[in-house]
Formats: sequence, structure tokens, C-alpha cells
Amino acid sequence: MLRRNFLKAAGAVAAPAFAKTDRRPNILFIMADDHAAHAISAYGSTINETPNIDRIGRDGIRLDNCFCTNSICTPSRAVILTGQYSHVNGVKTLNDPLDPGRQNVAKLLQAGGYSTAMVGKWHLHKDPTGFDYWNILPGQGAYYDPEFIEMGQRKKHTGYCTDLITDFSINWLKQRPKDKPFFLMCHHKAPHRPWQPAQSHAYDAATRTIEEPVTLYDHYENRSEAARRATMRVGESMTKADVKTDLPADLKGDELRKWGYQRYIKDYLRCIQSVDDGVGRLLSQLMRDDLEENTVVIYTSDQGFFLGDHGWFDKRFMYEESLRMPFLIRYPKELKHGINSDMILNLDFAGTFLDFAGVAAPSDMQGRSFRQNLRGRTPNDWRKSMYYRYWMHLADHNVAAHYGVRTERYKLIYYYGKALGTSGSIDRDTPPEWELFDLLKDPRELTNVYADPVYQKTIVDLKTLLARLQAEYGDQPCPA
Ligand code: CA
Repeated sequence: MLRRNFLKAAGAVAAPAFAKTDRRPNILFIMADDHAAHAISAYGSTINETPNIDRIGRDGIRLDNCFCTNSICTPSRAVILTGQYSHVNGVKTLNDPLDPGRQNVAKLLQAGGYSTAMVGKWHLHKDPTGFDYWNILPGQGAYYDPEFIEMGQRKKHTGYCTDLITDFSINWLKQRPKDKPFFLMCHHKAPHRPWQPAQSHAYDAATRTIEEPVTLYDHYENRSEAARRATMRVGESMTKADVKTDLPADLKGDELRKWGYQRYIKDYLRCIQSVDDGVGRLLSQLMRDDLEENTVVIYTSDQGFFLGDHGWFDKRFMYEESLRMPFLIRYPKELKHGINSDMILNLDFAGTFLDFAGVAAPSDMQGRSFRQNLRGRTPNDWRKSMYYRYWMHLADHNVAAHYGVRTERYKLIYYYGKALGTSGSIDRDTPPEWELFDLLKDPRELTNVYADPVYQKTIVDLKTLLARLQAEYGDQPCPA
């Protein structure tokens, strides 16, 4: 009741007066672009070290089953801001803008007395709303000497994108009004393709060979046509911009894949080193300002990424490496160090921020706060399954649109074979097909067991679950 009144009051006046003793936590949300959990040492990475990102997890919490609902940049960002699925917030594809008139978590926090800022990659096509301050990259932005748009004004800067995003975030932290708690979204462009590192890290990983993932030489024998059709193969599907040199004409197949992996993964990891440096600088700033205790600090990425897994780069598929998001959170005042394995979605972020801020979540948010889960008090009715949908049929990398459901043990995916008028899709039908993976027996998703008689009862149950989740979230199944 109190919270409802509070929200009403907050909506009625632009800037509600809060006492100088407003001790609600600050929220520092740091998000990278395409940074897979298995390239973070706190997640057990065997290919790199991320000492600063690890600091968040060291005395905070690591989420081990944090998933995105649509593994692609622009849509995931819209889900995070609105707490709604893509078909509800209107951002199904890379080309769809986020309607500035829509609710978003920044607007709600702003109305609730927070000072709000957005720095870095926005990529939602229309100007940010709900932020007292914003300084964003136009579109994808550039790695070197990038332009930024600061409150509507375009300006070219000298320097490296990741460092500049950190600088601008720190500047805002210094200059922000100190009588309010803050909500800062610091969104890095890195380590997004084409993986251009800072000069300072140009040679860090060059001298050693990076360990190959066990599925690097996957040839998709027991999988869908969709997996075979995808043109996101390391080496083979790469361009000169990806590998920073001409592709060697004498290498083919697995040899080319082997070569391409070393070329791209080193640059990918070098990009992450700058992000890690930036996280360290932001944490130091909080320490200097004595804000460590009362600030919720999060490190995440807009989705996962294939780090040569299945022989791929990129994301989009509902497969584990692309579906899983890293998520580390620290808030010493309330959260004890640990690991949480509950199924948590990017859909839940907005509601969780609001919960920490004591602001009521609007009823059209579809996610749910996981603050209690973080405190070790997972609600009894917490989800045991999740719904996923990728909409861009045969767009970049020739990946077919699909939807599916993941439970603790199984994953059922339906490639429905149609564009359904979604922007950026190729309007060419492909034969519909299903995939079922038994994650307990086959955690790397190498064998589709959809046709195996042993699983027929499971398939019926999973299809019922899929239909129930679609109905619950208001999505439509593709007509057969
Ligand atoms: Ca991304």
C-alpha cells in the first residue's frame, strides 16, 4: 500500500523531494556486449583472466543460470529496460526501435527519486528516455576515436571506446547530484565484432596459443538443418575485418577453423581486457567516494556468445553458450558471497532494480524481482522453465527464427521456418523442424534426440509447457 502511494506521488510531481538521508542503494549496472560467461575467470574461464570483474563476484553472488529471452543485442537491451518480452515491448529484431513513450526502468527510478544516467552503447534507435544524463554511441559505434551523442549533441572523441565509456561514467559519478541515490547504466560496446582491441592490449595474448573449445570441430551431424545452415563458422564465415588480414587461401575446413579461432579469440579477449580495466576503475571510484557498501554493482552482458563452441562465433541460437548471460552482483550491505543456480532471466532485471529502490513494479512488467533469491530465500513458486524466441529469420548468419523452452534438464526448440513479417528477416520459408536436447546426458548439445522413442512422453510434456508459457506471456505460436 505504501509503495503504491509512493509511486502515485512520484508520478504526480516531476521531482519528489527526498530527504538528504535517502539511504536507498545506488545501482551501478555495467553491461558488456557479447561477453560470454566462459570468458570470465570468476566463471572458470580457462582462456583469460578478468581480475576486476572477478572482484564483483568475490564478495558478491554469481548467477549460474541467468538466461536471455532473445539472444541478440537490441532486443535484449529492450527486455532489460522494460521487463517485457520482445513481442510485448515491440523490439523483436535489431531494426526495431524502443518506443520512447513506453515505460522503462530508468523512467520509473527517475520518478522514484533516483538520479539516472546512461553511458555507452544504447542501440535502440531512438534517443534514450528516463535518464537525467545520457552520452551514447550512435548505433553500433566505433572502437577507435568514436563519436558519441551527449544529450542530443554529436561529438567526436579521441581515444579508445571502452576507456572513454569508463571516463564518461566516472565523470558523471563525480558530478551527479549527491543528495539522491543513483542509477547508472554503463554499457560497453566491447567485445562485439569486429573485436578491435586497444593498443595497450595489442600484444598481451599474442605469444601463447589459446586453448580450443572441445566442440570447435563440430560438423553438426546429429543436429537440425538450422545448425548446418548457419553461416557463423569460425574461419569459413569470417571476413578480413574479423581476422585483420587476408584469409589464407591455402587453408580449408578444420585447418581454416583452427587458424581463424586463434586470430579472432585473441582479439576478443584483448577487448575484454579493456572492459576489465574499466570495471576496476569504476570500483576504485566507488571506493574513493565511500560508496562501496551502499551500491549494488552488477556486471553482465546483453547475451552470451559462441567462443568457437560448435565451430561458431556470434549468438542468436537458443544453445547454451549463446543463451547464458554472465551475471555477477555485489551489495555488501545485504548480500552474502555465494553462487545462485535459480533460473533467472534478463526479463527480471528491471523488477529487481525497482525492488532494491523500493519502487513498485508496474503490472505490465513480465519479469519478477530476484532480490529474495539473492538473499538465499528463493520463493517456492520460482520458475523451473523458461521461454525463448529469436525472430530474425535467415537474417545475418542465416540463422532460422525459432522458439523453445528450457527446463532444468531439457531443451526443446522449434524452428518454425517463417519470417512472419519481422523486419530484417528474409522472407523465404524453410522446412519446420524440432530439436530436443537432454542436457543431463548431453550438456554440449551435440545430439538431437527428438526422434528417439525414449523421449516421446517428454516431448508431449514439453510441448504442453511451451504452449502454456506462450499463452502466459501473450505470445502466438507460429501457425503450422
Ligand atoms: Ca550483443
